[in-house]
Amino acid sequence: MIQDLSNGGIKMVDVYSAVKAQQLFWIERIKHADKQGWFQILQYYLKKNGGLFVFNCNYSLKMLNFDIPQFYKNILQCWDSLNVRNREDNTKFQIIWNNKQLKVTRDIIFFRKLFLKRIVFFNDILTEGCTLRRLDEMKRLFDLNANDYFRLQGVYSALLKTKFSKISYTDSFKNAAISNVILPVELVQLNKIKSKHFYDLLVAEKYERPVSTFRLQNRYHVSDKELVLARSSILLNTIDVKYREFQFKVLNDILNLNYKLYKMKVITSPLCSFCNAEIETIEHLFWNCPFTQLFWNQLGKELTMFDFSLLTEKM
Ligand SMILES: [Zn+2]
Repeated sequence: MIQDLSNGGIKMVDVYSAVKAQQLFWIERIKHADKQGWFQILQYYLKKNGGLFVFNCNYSLKMLNFDIPQFYKNILQCWDSLNVRNREDNTKFQIIWNNKQLKVTRDIIFFRKLFLKRIVFFNDILTEGCTLRRLDEMKRLFDLNANDYFRLQGVYSALLKTKFSKISYTDSFKNAAISNVILPVELVQLNKIKSKHFYDLLVAEKYERPVSTFRLQNRYHVSDKELVLARSSILLNTIDVKYREFQFKVLNDILNLNYKLYKMKVITSPLCSFCNAEIETIEHLFWNCPFTQLFWNQLGKELTMFDFSLLTEKM
């Protein structure tokens, strides 16, 4: 119901997603809020976990265990549950710190000193063969001392307990990840982000193919493209609300015809109300029934008088 017409819905407002979208829209405000007073409060609470960097991590609110106001907790919660952030190729699975998969004695890890030395991604600490880089290499790349390296060994042994992959990122991407919130690809491409865009993402996540899709595709071998065209044409064919509603019901097979009412045990026979010979389905009632055929034939004849013809071969 909340999907677009072309996807078989009627574009109803999903209140739950609308509220969530308003909360998520704060991410966009946070991204551009450098010098504003309220932003300093948020920075203060997130400081011990890396500031805005937290938003890019595979965090768990429970494990972060910080005493942050409920308002920001809600935002972090919504952000964490956004499915586009949970794709396997997402950056968040590549970040070492505040990662709920990576635990040392039940807590998630954030070593500020190593973070400030720009150790962020798995790629930063791993060799080509996915073993921990040697101390001399880490010394050269990140200016680490033996003590820091010892800490990294703990991180690495936690990493070995998880399924991990290793992607390399450019320096500019790393800078962005350290200092600000990285948005999903779907939003990065936009010039100006509005709460509607977050809403669209949330609604798209809830998409389920309408049951009628299988019926139409199996019975009439309709392609996905033709189906989208038929569904979107509901608004183009008529401006009458009743006719639109009727067309929507036919396409989604939700007209209460006899075969359906019989299944619901509302009536005692599924047979056609006119011919009483066959089961009253959409196809029978609007095309195969002898009474309907009579109607179409007569209508066809009438229309030829005005130079119109019915596309009978397609019906
Ligand atoms: Zn009939």
